[in-house]
Formats: sequence, structure tokens, C-alpha cells
Amino acid sequence: MNWTELKQQIQTSPAFVLDEDQVLANLQPLQALRQEAGCKILYSMKALPLAALLELIIDRVDGISVSSLFEARLAKEMLDEQGGSVHLTTPGMRPDEFAELGGLCSHISFNSLSQYQRLQALAEGYSKGLRVNPQLSFLHDQRYDPCRPHSKLGVDIESVRDGLPAGVEGLHFHTVFASRDFMPLQHTLEKLMPILTRNSHLRWLNLGGGYLYNAIANQQAVVALINRLRSDLGVEVYLEPGKAVVGNAGYLLTSVLDRFVSDGKDVLILDTSVNHHPEVFEYQVKPRLLEENINGGCAAILAGSTCLAGDVFGEYRFDNIPDVGDKLVFADVGAYSLIKANRFNGYNLPDIYTLKQARLSLRKRYDYQDYRRQWVDTGR
Ligand SMILES: *Cc1c(COP(=O)(O)O)cnc(C)c1O
Repeated sequence: MNWTELKQQIQTSPAFVLDEDQVLANLQPLQALRQEAGCKILYSMKALPLAALLELIIDRVDGISVSSLFEARLAKEMLDEQGGSVHLTTPGMRPDEFAELGGLCSHISFNSLSQYQRLQALAEGYSKGLRVNPQLSFLHDQRYDPCRPHSKLGVDIESVRDGLPAGVEGLHFHTVFASRDFMPLQHTLEKLMPILTRNSHLRWLNLGGGYLYNAIANQQAVVALINRLRSDLGVEVYLEPGKAVVGNAGYLLTSVLDRFVSDGKDVLILDTSVNHHPEVFEYQVKPRLLEENINGGCAAILAGSTCLAGDVFGEYRFDNIPDVGDKLVFADVGAYSLIKANRFNGYNLPDIYTLKQARLSLRKRYDYQDYRRQWVDTGR
């Protein structure tokens, strides 16, 4: 990508840029898995529910996985022409929405036995599953470990050791985040195997998301694993990656609004903020900046434009400290950024562009009317 040119073409910042060619490249290892292992690929749309993205990938995946009624509606709308599965799991299933969800979704994995008992009969025509919690922690940070103590995510596998409720046709689990190897998957399946073999009527198994397929060179281990599941158990196997599809395909372009020295360090104020990538603040991660040179001779703190003192991206090194008016680009921000973005302090959301073979298309531009609609009384 030629960012010198892109920076000239994109005059208004902040701007989110989705590189469509990178998305298609990210789908390659998933297509290979589909062919070699015979599994099905769903896109977990919560990572980035942008319609332009869904349209781009829709005929290269087997469906979409969703976590709510709104996601299910949009997924269904996008899938309508070619069909495809819609898989749902969420702790927050509501009785007043369930009839519609049952109509929109092909597969629903209930998050608890009580949720299953109260809701499963309120709709028909979908395949019933359970999200199980294998009680194997692979993540050190409890904030995103689905298997943390007292977890709210999934049925404790100990409670289904002796059998599954009647009517359950599938199992689902999701236990990792941004994993670059398949060891957790192997361990999880080993632990689940007694349950899987005892319930030979199961028709499908959803192995969740959380693996960065595009960053794992050798997939032979997982190909063998999935093939074995399919032949030994006779189940259909689904994978539902989110970040692996879009994470490295998203960029956030920002401009430097101000520069000053604070307690001896240079501070650059940007026209974006952690509003536009809340995980920077939530998990205190420092996003990659294309202009950074880690061996550069000088450093500056990149800070957002809101009133929050901790609205800071981090300290970055440069050959020369960027000036007011310079444009900078954060990389690897395609997943869990825009979907969590907000207008705190009244700052607008970024424009959204897609980029395809070096051609930019403006997809969305928010304005004051969007902000006003959110806060001014209905009907005024
Ligand atoms: C978030 C989520 C995914 C996608 O996770 P990624 O880390 O983005 O691949 C898949 N399945 C479930 C149940 C999830 O909660």
C-alpha cells in the first residue's frame, strides 16, 4: 500500500480504511481449511459489521455468526440472496426476541441450561446447540478469558458429563483470543472427547473463533484434527473467526492537531482518540503506527483529543517528531475498533473508506445530524 499517496487522497481525517485485498488474502488459509478439512467457515460479524465487508466476503464463507438480534437481522439481510448459516450464541437472549431470532438463525447455541429450558421451545426451525465451557484457561488476562472462575460464558462441561438435554444437536465452544497456535484447540477437544463420543447423535460442532489463521503458517495439525472429528463423530465442523478476517486489514488515519512539551516530553494531540479504538484504553495496548521507527532518535506521546487524561495511545519513536498537520496511520485496527467507537466529547466518528487495488471508495461519512439524532428527543 502506498500511504504517501493515500494520505494525499484522504483529505479529511480521522478516517478508517479497510483494505479489501488484505481481507481476501486473510480468507485464503480459511478457504484452504474448508477444502482440505471439509469444515465450514462463518464470519463472526461482531469484529466489524460493515456492510461493504459482509458483501465482499459473503460468497467466500458459509455464513455469519452473530451475538444479538440486530446482528442477526443484518446478517440475514446480507446473506439473503445466496443463503448460508446464521449461528447465534449470547448470554443475553431475550424471551421477547426469541421467536424472531429462531426465524433468522439456522443454529442457536444456548449459553446455559436454564436459558435452554426457558427459551428453546419459543421458536422452531432452528438447530439447537449448547455453548459449553471446557474450564481450560489459555489466557492470562481474566478480562477476556471465557474460562475464568465463575464465568458467565457457557455450560460447565461437568454438568453435561452424564448427558445432554433432549433435542440438543450441536455443541459450541470459544475459549481463546488472538491465538497464534492451535494448542488450545487440541487441548479443548481432548477434554471434550468423552462427551462427544458419548453423544453420538450430535450433528455439528462449532469450534468458535480466536485463532489468527492468517498468522499460522502450518495448518496441517488442525486439518488432521478436523478431519478426524468429521470422520469419527460424523459431525459438521464450523469455525467462526472474526479478527483473523479483518484485524490486519483496517487502518486509522489521523492528523496531528497540536504539539507541545509536557514535563519534558513531546506530546502530540491527534484528531482521533481512544473513542475510536476503545480497546487501547480498555486493555492498555499500544497500536502499531506505520510511521514509527523503533530505533528513531526521538520520542513523543501520541494522545487523543478528548478530555480524558488517559486518552493516550502510547509513546512512539521517530526519526523526526511529526509536526502539526502531519498525517499518521495506526495499523492492525480492523477488528473491535469501529464497532466499539463512540462520540464521547462530541467528536465525530471517522469516515469509512474501502481500498481495492489502490482505489479508495468513501463508504460512510457521519455528521452533526447523526450526533443530534442520538441525543435529541425522538420526533423533535
Ligand atoms: C468474539 C467471538 C468470536 C470471534 O472471535 P475472534 O477473536 O474475533 O476470532 C467467535 N465466537 C464467539 C462465541 C465469540 O464470542
